[in-house]
Amino acid sequence: MNRRDFIKMTGMSVAALAAADYGLCAEAANRPNIVWLFADDHGYQAIGAYGGRFEKENLTPNIDRIARAGMTFDRCYVGNSICAPSRATLLTGKHSHLNGKLDNRGGFNHDQQQFQKILQKHGYQTAMIGKIHLAGKMQGFDYWEVLPGQGRYWNPQFLTAAGKTVYTGRHSTEVITERALNWLEQGRDADKPFMLMVHFKAPHRNWQPMPHWKERFKDRVWPEPDTLFDDYSGRGTAAHKQSMTIARTMRLEGDLKAGEPERKAYLEAHKPEGEDLIRWKYQTYMRDYLACIAGVDEHVGKILDYLTEKGLDRNTVVMYSSDQGFYLGEHGWFDKRFMYRESFRTPFLAMWPGVIPAGTRNGELVQNIDFAETFLDIAGAPIPDAMQGRSLVPLLKGKTPDDWRTSLYYHYYEFPGAHAVRRHEGVATARYKLIRFYGPGVPNGEEWEFYDLQNDPNEMKSVYREPDQQKHIAGMKTELQRLREFYRVPASQTR
Ligand code: CA
Repeated sequence: MNRRDFIKMTGMSVAALAAADYGLCAEAANRPNIVWLFADDHGYQAIGAYGGRFEKENLTPNIDRIARAGMTFDRCYVGNSICAPSRATLLTGKHSHLNGKLDNRGGFNHDQQQFQKILQKHGYQTAMIGKIHLAGKMQGFDYWEVLPGQGRYWNPQFLTAAGKTVYTGRHSTEVITERALNWLEQGRDADKPFMLMVHFKAPHRNWQPMPHWKERFKDRVWPEPDTLFDDYSGRGTAAHKQSMTIARTMRLEGDLKAGEPERKAYLEAHKPEGEDLIRWKYQTYMRDYLACIAGVDEHVGKILDYLTEKGLDRNTVVMYSSDQGFYLGEHGWFDKRFMYRESFRTPFLAMWPGVIPAGTRNGELVQNIDFAETFLDIAGAPIPDAMQGRSLVPLLKGKTPDDWRTSLYYHYYEFPGAHAVRRHEGVATARYKLIRFYGPGVPNGEEWEFYDLQNDPNEMKSVYREPDQQKHIAGMKTELQRLREFYRVPASQTR
């Protein structure tokens, strides 16, 4: 049917049709922009708004601006706590077993459905700048400039649709921010709403901060976590056999830059050993890690300031998150991977003027499978049935649906692999966590752990064998099986 026939059939006047067209355009123009700020390995413990042992240090005054103006999620989790799989989930809205990115190795199928392709089709301009850690050409972005693989802290090189760019003598946090601001200033089509993804490399290992932050933090003494000297006695094989301790795995040279003059002098003068050496390593790790965070926060501030200066803040949703959490010495660890709290959980904060009530907190169970659908919902774009999360927009508006999820599925695959964390899957509710370690490196191929998070929030003692827990464990096993079916986890991937 052509336009003339349509008008005839509906009896609609040309003027009315023109008005309808105009209405659509006006609506499109009012659709909110989205700025997605994403760090690599930023543990929620190192964000002021989350409180905890660094609360008084004022590490993140700018990220805390998002908390004050918007909503802070206290129970946001990932489905697979490692870089590339988390990013694949961010783009696809699917768990690893369906998007194909199970671990940090191997490729990513860019041809599959991803939220940005749908946004683009629905009139959004899309841009991705920084670390994505998915080899191959990005699809669905009008502009992309991404670090190859892990990328470098200094002298970063980027891949673009046109080739390569390199920024000699510069720090990645600074360059990623500048490129994002440059795109907002020069690359953006002011007639379209936009989705800008700013993905910092920091604070990933080996924690190379910008010099002004390094200098400012060099003599700071940080509070230690209660579990720094954990001996894993209450847990199974996986916690004992991992390779991610500050004591044994963290390297004096490569990680802690022990050759730097001040550090070298300290080590030579004091010759710390045993617990003293672990304490020194922890302090040095935190100085560099938290200085990286301070750098990211400073640059988040520059992006927020730009949006305000240009009046873009009024119709832009700004979100901050990380690809997963991280151990900042809890259980004596660094790194991530485990379904235990600090790596399973990830920060998530969002501000949206006029929609999200300022200074609010949300305690619902949300997961990184929800982000893609949330972006589409904000844009008023259709959400494919194949995506596995739920839009967070109702939560952002302070209205949790009655049928919101009460449990989360988790699955980590990369073993044998870096840090030797055994494969495991599990289910968590607000109260309980059931973990099933399986496969190579696990005695008899299967080992279960169970935690009552109310009585044991630090997950120090599995109560899987306690008689009075068996009823809860049976319920959680049923729930695990239900989630495997609900998320369509192939049985072949749980052995
Ligand atoms: Ca990461």
